[in-house]
Amino acid sequence: LLSSATSPGLHVIHIAAEMAPVAKVGGLGDVVSGLGKALQKKGHLVEIVLPKYDCMQYDRVCDLRALDVLIDSYFDRQLYKNKIWVGTIEGLPVYFIEPHHPDKFFWRGKFYGEHDDFRRFSFFSRAALEFLLQAGKKPDIIHCHDWQTAFIAPLYWDIYAPKGLNSARICFTCHNFEYQGTAAASELESCGLESHHLNRPDRMQDNSAHDRVNSVKGGIVFSNIVTTVSPTYAQEVRTSEGGHGLHSTLSAHSKKFIGILNGIDTDAWNPATDAFLPVQYNATDLQGKAENKQALRRNLGLSSTDVRRPLVGCITRLVPQKGVHLIRHAIYLTLELGGQFVLLGSSPVPHIQNEFEGIANHFQNHDHIRLILKYDESLSHVIYAASDMFIIPSIFEPCGLTQMISMRYGAIPIVRKTGGLNDSVFDVDDDTIPSQFRNGFTFMNADEQGLNGALVRAFNLFNNNPESWKQLVQKDMNIDFSWETSSAQYEELYLKSVARAKAAKLA
Ligand code: ADP
Repeated sequence: LLSSATSPGLHVIHIAAEMAPVAKVGGLGDVVSGLGKALQKKGHLVEIVLPKYDCMQYDRVCDLRALDVLIDSYFDRQLYKNKIWVGTIEGLPVYFIEPHHPDKFFWRGKFYGEHDDFRRFSFFSRAALEFLLQAGKKPDIIHCHDWQTAFIAPLYWDIYAPKGLNSARICFTCHNFEYQGTAAASELESCGLESHHLNRPDRMQDNSAHDRVNSVKGGIVFSNIVTTVSPTYAQEVRTSEGGHGLHSTLSAHSKKFIGILNGIDTDAWNPATDAFLPVQYNATDLQGKAENKQALRRNLGLSSTDVRRPLVGCITRLVPQKGVHLIRHAIYLTLELGGQFVLLGSSPVPHIQNEFEGIANHFQNHDHIRLILKYDESLSHVIYAASDMFIIPSIFEPCGLTQMISMRYGAIPIVRKTGGLNDSVFDVDDDTIPSQFRNGFTFMNADEQGLNGALVRAFNLFNNNPESWKQLVQKDMNIDFSWETSSAQYEELYLKSVARAKAAKLA
């Protein structure tokens, strides 16, 4: 087994259920690779541990090979073998865990949404720690993400630190408090955690169902550092309206809890080099942006007769959080205002998927509206490049990446002021914000009037003042949304936590 190489910086191991571009459902996947790469650039040794899903994009993994040792991992009072694979994704070393369990946990043709998700990911969390122990890794930081790997925190302190994997501090990042990973308390026993010890109000007991445990709560209680993905969202989840039942837990642990705005991967999202685009472009040469708009219109069969007709884009999971009723409204309003609308999205919720399929069919051959109801990475790049405006009417939004990507591609964001949208989009008409920071259109009320106000203002500026619009596009394209600043904040948290642990050992 590979032992950790020595490095002048910290040794950070991310254990996660997603990593872009090979296994991505949403923003979590982008964060693991974006933050990982940024920390690696700063001189830290960063490694990632993922499940070995059958449905990963294997063509994006370099030098994939199996290690010649199997790792035994405990589950349901037995030991199961795990094959460990290693490869490189975007320059980061990644270990993949392939359980030899009869339930074929990661051979399901999808990442989540299985009836036994709690078992699948509690198994994975334990197997990942077992691998680190047996491989002799001595990380400074183990960084786990979302409910799927929040089990790491209690597993580490209750089982693995006593076994000798005790060099690390645990950092837990919650990317969305809506998804908490709860189950009957007895289900914790499968991965070796003791339910009678953990099913207590100050430990893992769910705050609303006392016979259930909650893995995100375990992540909060048992980690040394707890983060979420924007400062505004960190405030919102401390309130009873925004906390999804965890506000009291977060308040009790507020000293170690902080919101850090995500960055975006500016190598992957760069209109000047983006290989998915028919034409590359940059802020000083916007001709290419216009050509991408024409190319998208041609590909989707939209009318190209009026070159300047504004194109409104929307790329999203279609779930209630994203304000689906407002997205629907935006389609019709855009049409009324004389624009074109392109939606790329898919929904895990059958009635929402059905509803949008109905709208898609209705507009099937329409000159100005197109709905593409699937996940399509390459098309997403072209839509960002082609759009003049980009709509994000979220009910809540922990961070949101699409507003930052759209700005980098010169599509002006129109967003509801919530969570990370509130920390990254500032209204062009808001006099309380210094003018150099104003970069988009925002609205407060999650209703049609709220959205109307912002969209109409955007259309007015676009139609009546093309020169100001162009300056806004260029300004947005030049904003630095890289991981530079955010990764420095994570680095500081890690270093402080490691220093505190050292000081405590010496005392
Ligand atoms: P969330 O994590 O809640 O889904 P984010 O805004 O944080 O939302 O991240 C969404 C990411 O997923 C962005 O990179 C966006 O481009 C991408 N995305 C969402 N839906 C699709 C889709 N249908 N096809 C391609 N990419 C998508």
